[in-house]
Amino acid sequence: MTTVAIAGSTGSIGTQTVDVVRTAPERFEVVALAAWSSIDRLVAQAVELRPKLVVIADPQGSVDDVAERLPAGTELRVGLAALAELGEVADVCVNAVVGFAGLEVTLSTLGAGRRLALANKESLIAGGPVVQAALRRPGAGHIVPVDSEHCALHQCLQTNAGGEPDRVARLVLTASGGPFRGRSRAELAGVTIDDALAHPTWSMGPKITVDSSTLMNKGLEVIEAHELFGLDYDRIEVVVHPQSIVHSMVELRDGATIAQLSQPDMRGPIGYALCWPDRLATPFGRLDWTATTRLDFEPPDLEAFPCLGLAYQAGRAGETAPAALNAANEVAVAAFLEGRIAWTTIPDVLKAVLDGHDGAVAVGVEAVVSADQRAREAARREIERTTR
Ligand code: NAD
Ligand code: MG
Repeated sequence: MTTVAIAGSTGSIGTQTVDVVRTAPERFEVVALAAWSSIDRLVAQAVELRPKLVVIADPQGSVDDVAERLPAGTELRVGLAALAELGEVADVCVNAVVGFAGLEVTLSTLGAGRRLALANKESLIAGGPVVQAALRRPGAGHIVPVDSEHCALHQCLQTNAGGEPDRVARLVLTASGGPFRGRSRAELAGVTIDDALAHPTWSMGPKITVDSSTLMNKGLEVIEAHELFGLDYDRIEVVVHPQSIVHSMVELRDGATIAQLSQPDMRGPIGYALCWPDRLATPFGRLDWTATTRLDFEPPDLEAFPCLGLAYQAGRAGETAPAALNAANEVAVAAFLEGRIAWTTIPDVLKAVLDGHDGAVAVGVEAVVSADQRAREAARREIERTTR
């Protein structure tokens, strides 16, 4: 029996994790759930799964009648310290929180020597040097990526017997291209919130869906790949693949390329991260080679989608630059979703924040949190300036 904690259980990845658990109740036991909001959904999950712990992360969250709606034997706790405890109570902690807010869960899981099934890429990207230090500590836990591209790379790299990094020539991340693939910069001027939220191949939470439309998601994933697999940025490439069937590829030094293919369904990567090195007994969809008639590939358009280039720039700068970029992006995406800025302003905000970044080193969690906060303030000022 594998015990599982789900941080961010009410979101897109969280609810799909519950789906995976339902397919193998003899194998998984959910012992803890946490969310920020969507309390009714959280309570319904608790009634079904009977975890030992339920956490409402929002310290100001309304908990009025929640305790009495929970099953007997389920403890209710509130606040960010309680959220971080999810990393310490199970064999596997699925970090499905959205944004930088997931950092404490990532660090507590690794600190407790547990498996981190990582969907919350922002914590690894923003906290890179700090997470690496946590991974190096004796008795540290390990990461199995949930992000589909990195889960694919993790699988492809298993074929590189011995895992010698110098046998790997490059990592190739695939990108669906999002809803605006093929449009020029000029054609993107008037896109709406609904346009940006209409992803062609994946159904996800709003923040990552907007990130997919700007290609910022792919940019963040380039940094995520660097942090997970240790290759430098010259050996991490992006190719647009609209069908989202090839989830990423590893090219070995003899030119052989290993790819991982499956239906675009996040329950596959979630199941992989829960079971690794074993496999789930049942698939979530199989490939039908009589229906899948083509797999297309094209280079990304860096001019229409400048966020991807900005992510390479921040990744190469290292230290707290990825934290600054990530924070600016969270602020800009929130402003876009509130209708305060145009979609095309998102990369402008990121560029302004990155250009003004002070290059602070990421010596510890405080340095990363401080870089995150300063970049948020800089992004807010930039948004104010452009909307005046
Ligand atoms: P979502 O918005 O659907 O869900 C987010 C969850 O986190 C919810 O349970 C919410 O209550 C909780 N949450 C929000 N703010 C929080 C905070 N400050 N503290 C604690 N909990 C908080 O998001 P999602 O699409 O499920 O994405 C979650 C993470 O997984 C993101 O990092 C995203 O990039 C990554 N990811 C998602 C997908 C996908 O298919 N949805 C694919 C790959 C990676
Ligand atoms: Mg992804």
